[in-house]
Amino acid sequence: MIVTVNSISPERVRDLVATHCRDIPDFPSPGVVFKDITPLLADSYAFGQVIEYLADFLERVGAELVVGIEARGFILAAPAAFHAGLGFVPLRKPGKLPGVTLRESYALEYGEASLEMHEDAIRPGARVVIMDDVLATGGTAAAAADLLERAGAKVLGMSFLIELAHLGGRAKLPGRDIDCVWTP
Ligand code: AMP
Repeated sequence: MIVTVNSISPERVRDLVATHCRDIPDFPSPGVVFKDITPLLADSYAFGQVIEYLADFLERVGAELVVGIEARGFILAAPAAFHAGLGFVPLRKPGKLPGVTLRESYALEYGEASLEMHEDAIRPGARVVIMDDVLATGGTAAAAADLLERAGAKVLGMSFLIELAHLGGRAKLPGRDIDCVWTP
């Protein structure tokens, strides 16, 4: 028998995510079905359960730092980091960070983009987890992991609310420990 102590059941969190996210067709461009998490964020119970679940994951893998990807990744990673008693590091779109940065460019489901982080944000060997709302083609997450490893971090895992499995993002993340709450 498996006994879960002080942790949130993955099935319950999955159902909360599935019932509190909505599809917006053709946003931001024709053919894309955008997964909108704002109804989830607006529900204090659902949002709280999700953050507790994400914090559990951080504790389970032994993270010491949580990395969020701009912008929706921040909304999840910062409270999860706080809940787990960990620090938070933002990966930002170009030109937003004031200090000296490292940059990584990548392809998106819709377009192309780059991520930046402060070059001194990570102590060499730091055990980090990357968080974002959606795993789609995997380009963003792969770029984030590359950037962190260039900075000397040890990427323990990646955590997403939603995985769009038909877009094959996992293929760009071989060997990574990936946790996705809900795969529609
Ligand atoms: P990708 O690099 O293709 O895995 O795209 C992941 C990034 O783009 C994440 O930061 C998501 O927030 C965003 N994204 C990509 N596709 C979608 C989608 N269908 N709905 C919501 N966000 C998406």
